[in-house]
Amino acid sequence: MTRGVALFGATGSIGESTLSVIRAHPERFHLDVVSAHASIEKLVRIVDEFQPKHVVLTDPAGADELLAQLPHHFKGSVSFGEAALAEAATGADVDVVMAAIVGGAGLLSTYAAVKAGKVVCLANKESLVMGGELMMQAAKASGASLIPIDSEHNAIFQCLPMGYAAGEEIAGLRQLILTCSGGPFRTATTASMQSATPAEAIAHPNWSMGQKISVDSATLMNKGLELIEATHLFQVDQSAIEVVIHPESAIHSMVEYADGSMLAQLGSADMRIPIAHALGYPERLAMDVERLSLSALGSMHFDPVDHEKFPALGLARAASEAGGDRPVVLNAANEIAVDAFLHARIGFMDISPLVDQCLNQIASQPISCLEDVLTIDRIVRQTAVELIGERA
Ligand code: NAD
Ligand code: MG
Repeated sequence: MTRGVALFGATGSIGESTLSVIRAHPERFHLDVVSAHASIEKLVRIVDEFQPKHVVLTDPAGADELLAQLPHHFKGSVSFGEAALAEAATGADVDVVMAAIVGGAGLLSTYAAVKAGKVVCLANKESLVMGGELMMQAAKASGASLIPIDSEHNAIFQCLPMGYAAGEEIAGLRQLILTCSGGPFRTATTASMQSATPAEAIAHPNWSMGQKISVDSATLMNKGLELIEATHLFQVDQSAIEVVIHPESAIHSMVEYADGSMLAQLGSADMRIPIAHALGYPERLAMDVERLSLSALGSMHFDPVDHEKFPALGLARAASEAGGDRPVVLNAANEIAVDAFLHARIGFMDISPLVDQCLNQIASQPISCLEDVLTIDRIVRQTAVELIGERA
């Protein structure tokens, strides 16, 4: 019997890499549910190739176009909207959910999969940043297992004792070390970053990814979101997580234990590696990916983060330390700021100050359920849009 995979965000970068792992292992997996937001042509090609049982288009505006284009031999069902996706996560035939939607838009479906007790392969880091505590509690209650896809967290997971489940404390831990490539502006001057274009910001030196995470990698907010993600997955305080610049992206992250041992996971910068690890876990799937050649690499470098040039990481640390709704504010403000930058409404160096402004301006509110998270998220997005309007 093959395992049924529900792939949320199939048309994105992680979606594509996931499909290539499924394609390489038809003896193990079949695509049961597939979702996309708007890329209908791409979605139709996926449906044509993988014949899933269920297709969800999260943006209902494209419903007619999708229905008109679906191949005649497609015998499955189709539904529309965010709630339909959350529903699809609970399907009896779904064994594994790959949460690969970008941004807060992935929160409801990821949470639904966790509540349904599925094996959840988590790429959608924003959902953990926003609702980390609720998500980890839900996983404990339902028995869901969370397997990190983010290369850093997947690396850490691989450096933990076999059988470790996300959300448990790590015995004998001294600290986690997240590696960070430094992004496209690692060696750039602040002056040149001030006039950076979206094209320059998304040109990542080592990884090919979606636009939003590429900009986050350029501001280093991505590392900030990953820091918060790690506090939840591995139950550590932010103070026990170090970030180190490692331009070669060969070591994907490290775990330092109390006895002085440091474990690292290495590999080429290809997301199919962590995805294959997570889908196959605890077995190892063979993958035809570029192998890391240490002799070709020659040397590896490690540097501290320049916090003056990259204030986003400090903002994320402070938000993690403060807890409560602060990570929700950080994430929502960042999503709006990145979108505004990509649409040339603000400059690259305006992104972090805008997030900071939202954190300062929006009073803290308690969070006790997912509704609270969504309410705060909405308020922050509105405030951020207004602040951008005032700047123009
Ligand atoms: P992407 O932009 O390439 O793809 C995003 C996917 O989400 C698409 O399928 C799109 O249709 C869907 N989507 C977009 N808006 C949506 C909405 N409002 N509602 C529902 N679906 C929507 O993004 P990506 O680079 O694949 O990243 C996906 C997630 O994985 C992000 O959270 C990112 O941080 C994380 N991640 C990505 C990489 C990478 O290499 N790309 C690495 C680590 C983590
Ligand atoms: Mg990462």
